Order: sequence, then C-alpha cells, then structure tokens
Amino acid sequence: MTDQSYLTTKRIDEPASSHWEAGNDAPDFLLSVRGLCKHLPIFSHGFIKKQVATVKAVDNVSFDLRRGETLGLVGESGSGKTTCARTILRALKPTRGDIFFRPNGNEINLAHLHEQELKPLRTKMQMIFQDPFSSLNPRMTVGSIVGEPLVIHHLSKGSELEDKVANMLRKVGLKPEHRQRYPHAFSGGQRQRIGIARALIMQPSLVVADEAVSALDVSVQAQVINLLKDLQEDLNLTYLFVAHDLSVVRHTCDCVAVMYAGKIVETGPTLDLFNNPKHPYTKALISAIPNPDPDIKLDISIDGEVADPSKLPPGCSFHPRCPECFSPCRNETPELIELEKNRQAACHLYRP
Ligand code: SF4
Repeated sequence: MTDQSYLTTKRIDEPASSHWEAGNDAPDFLLSVRGLCKHLPIFSHGFIKKQVATVKAVDNVSFDLRRGETLGLVGESGSGKTTCARTILRALKPTRGDIFFRPNGNEINLAHLHEQELKPLRTKMQMIFQDPFSSLNPRMTVGSIVGEPLVIHHLSKGSELEDKVANMLRKVGLKPEHRQRYPHAFSGGQRQRIGIARALIMQPSLVVADEAVSALDVSVQAQVINLLKDLQEDLNLTYLFVAHDLSVVRHTCDCVAVMYAGKIVETGPTLDLFNNPKHPYTKALISAIPNPDPDIKLDISIDGEVADPSKLPPGCSFHPRCPECFSPCRNETPELIELEKNRQAACHLYRP
C-alpha cells in the first residue's frame, strides 16, 4: 500500500476542465469520473406506460484514480457501487456525466462513445466478477475461457495463443496443463484465478474487481488478494475494487470512496479514513468490522436499510438512520466538501 492519494486536493465535484488546469495532474490519473449519473425510469403497469418514478442508482459521482493504485468503492448492498462500476466500464450507458480514461496518454471520454467506438477500448478495461462458479462457462475448457478475449478481438491465434494462455495461467498460479480441464474440476479459489487470468490476458490498464473475493473462504481470500497485489506490481495494473467488506478493503486499497444511496459520502486515503472516519455512515461501517478483542466494543449500530433510490428521503439520504441527525439534515442535501488535504465528506456536521 502506498501513502499516495488518488484524490486531489480540489473539490472533486469541480468541473473537470478547471480541476485539471488548476492541478495540471490529469496525466497521473488513469481514470477521472465527473458528475456521473445513472438514473433508471420506473413505468406504471397497464396498457399506457407512464413514468412514475426514477431510481437514482448513481447520482453525481466524481473521483480520480491514479495509475498503478487501487481505489476501494465501498458501501452496503444497494448503495450503487456495482452500478457505478458497470457504468464506468460502459456495460451501462450513463444518464449524465463524463468518464475520462487515459490508457496510453490519450484522453478519451467513454461516456459519449457508441458501442463500435468502445470495442477497441474494451481490451483496456476488464472486470473480475464476484462469483467464480457462475462467471465461467462450464462447457468450455480453461484454455478456451482464458484465450477467448484474444480470439474475439482477433489478437492471437494458433501457437501464439496457446503460449499466451499458458503464460497467463502460470502468472495466476495455475499450470499450463490445466488448459484442457473444465471449470468444475477446480476449487473456488482456482476458479477465481481462472477469472483473473481471463481478465488480464488482454493486458488491460484498468481492472474492476467487483466483490472479487467475497464468495471465497477467508484463507482463500488472502491468497487471491496477495495474487492481485503481485499482479498489480508486475503488470502495472490500476484497480477499482468494489466491496462491501471493509476489512478486505483496508488491506487492499490505497484510497477509499464510501457510497450511500448512489452518492459518494466520504473519500480519503485508506489509513486516514479507517483511523479517523468523518461521516456517520463510514463510522458505522467501520465499527461493524468484527474485532478479535472482545473487550473492544466499537459498535455504532445503524437501524434500517439503505434508502430506496426511487424514494429518497429529503435532505441527507442517510438522515432516517443517522445517530447524529440534526435539523438541517432533514431538508438540506449536504455537498461533498473538502475537510482537509485528500479528505472529503458530505455531511452537515462539517459545513463551514
Ligand atoms: Fe447524519 Fe446529518 Fe451528516 Fe446526514 S448530514 S450524515 S443526517 S449528521
């Protein structure tokens, strides 16, 4: 883990252009997301469909991700983190906002590209999925699964393809002879290694790991996390690590962005954020991490569930669950503001 930050000292909701001109640090960032929204309309039943509500799954999300580092996107189920990651990869079309991607020094705004324009860029952005059991086709051999992206993009064939697959299997701790076997012959951890090999064979710049270790046993989680870290160093990878398990994030990420009800509510370098959380939601998430010492009681309980993104409460979306709620929280939406260098939070407790 490095002590560098992904996050600039500027307000992260500033327009991209002024932000970069001011800081002149855009080339350091592989990815800069600005004002990203993914809103989904809900229609009435019946013959005449009428839009009755909008789900704000991702709402005005902005952050930067520095090359070679790992940003953890965390929150409870339903907070919008997976939808945000998928929108960044353009598996979903954004409603609004910009996704500036700089794989080879050139800046491309992914948000406004058509599918055909996106196709060559897909080799530079890959995803590792949560469930190693359902994300691998049981009818394909491991060799075909890992080599498939190269075949689809017409990048390799014949003995060159075989060599690349064998090398990639070695890199993820499997054996070249495993190429002939089918996924069912492997354990959960080995299957996740196959998924990692498939994602990395294209030599991507950006890898989104969506709950990549949450389906694995704890001992296997540690092995896969170590593997991801080694590969990051070897291949100069940049990770967006989507997770709900903060103990994993603590050991994996350089910086963290906490999401609640589609918005980022706190950001900061990992150690700072864990040692000194600012937002009541972050405090509650961190206090819920199991502690091996039974005498240490940190539990700050939060009642209820993540706010329904189609019926968000007025003011701060977290206010019905917040133990520190006070009067402005019920009708004024807090902005994400900079509290100190590299630390931002959206909470009225810190308003100037
Ligand atoms: Fe709690 Fe108010 Fe801060 Fe929201 S703005 S997190 S309700 S204190």
